[in-house]
Amino acid sequence: MGGKPTMEIMNKSKSGHAIALFSGGLDSTLAIILVLRQNIEVTALTFLTPFGCDIADRSGCGSDPYPVAQKFGFNVKLVHLGGKFIDIVTAPRFGYGKNMNPCIDCRILMLQEAKIYMDLIGADFIITGEVIGQRPKSQFRPSLNLIERESGLKGYLVRPLSAKLLDETIPEKNGLLNRELMERISGRSRKRQLELAKEFGLNDFPSPAGGCLLTTIGYSNRLRDLLTHADIIHPGDIELLRVGRHFRLDPQTKLIVGRDENDNEKIMKYLKTGYLSLEALNTGSPVALLIGNPSEENINRGATITARYCDLKYISQVEITCTHQDTTKCIKVRPATPDEAEKYLIK
Ligand code: SF4
Repeated sequence: MGGKPTMEIMNKSKSGHAIALFSGGLDSTLAIILVLRQNIEVTALTFLTPFGCDIADRSGCGSDPYPVAQKFGFNVKLVHLGGKFIDIVTAPRFGYGKNMNPCIDCRILMLQEAKIYMDLIGADFIITGEVIGQRPKSQFRPSLNLIERESGLKGYLVRPLSAKLLDETIPEKNGLLNRELMERISGRSRKRQLELAKEFGLNDFPSPAGGCLLTTIGYSNRLRDLLTHADIIHPGDIELLRVGRHFRLDPQTKLIVGRDENDNEKIMKYLKTGYLSLEALNTGSPVALLIGNPSEENINRGATITARYCDLKYISQVEITCTHQDTTKCIKVRPATPDEAEKYLIK
């Protein structure tokens, strides 16, 4: 581990090279700056997952990593975790947090990927913006130790914001890093981080995020439902969990109903062979997608639920257009009552 650079030419004026886990948030930025100030080159890895820690989608914990990297002089590489991340969400070795968030497995996976990159380019150590005791489960001392051990980074993982409270690491022992120039932050208060941000001229940073979509109840329930009922998970199935209201009609069949124009457009994008769409034409209406068994019973139920969310929901009969493959037919249904729709809603 460590050693001299092989594939990437190290900046000769620097005394070492660190790989950072970088979300674009305040803590990981400060961790990087604390190390940059010790004449260490930093390459930051920003991980993209299907669950919202994604710079293209601000619904999760990510934010655009490039402006701050440019300002302080470090490189950013985007790393897609894709299928590997879905595997740990499906069966986390270290369990879930409050919802479907497998934070410990997630940190281990990100660090394992960072280690592969560190070894590949011959960097010296890895840094993260973790702070002891800041977040439940994954940032208490036993978890930090477990994460370090499981990622195969014992001694090579530096948490500059809490470094003075943790065991001395190898880069500190071999003189690459000066412990005294790092911090002793613990707990949830952000006072010291805000002081450092001011000191470093870091003005534009996102407010702390609670985590990715997996930390939210609604999204977690939809994901749990998908994992329970689908034999194979396609990336599109995961994408659709962010869109619309979801109704479980039977073990094989799900209905997704758009909440607004934006949802309707996304739903149409995922309309594929075998899926059936439902819509009340010539009025304000959601687009709904029936995925699974297009039995008469399911189509009727899907149509009544679609009618319940269209502008004509107060009239006794609404005409719903059903399109399945190349066939379109219209059926007249009574809009479902709120209670009837609620019965099938995945909350
Ligand atoms: S909230 Fe947890 S599971 Fe989600 S990205 Fe952050 S560490 Fe990973």
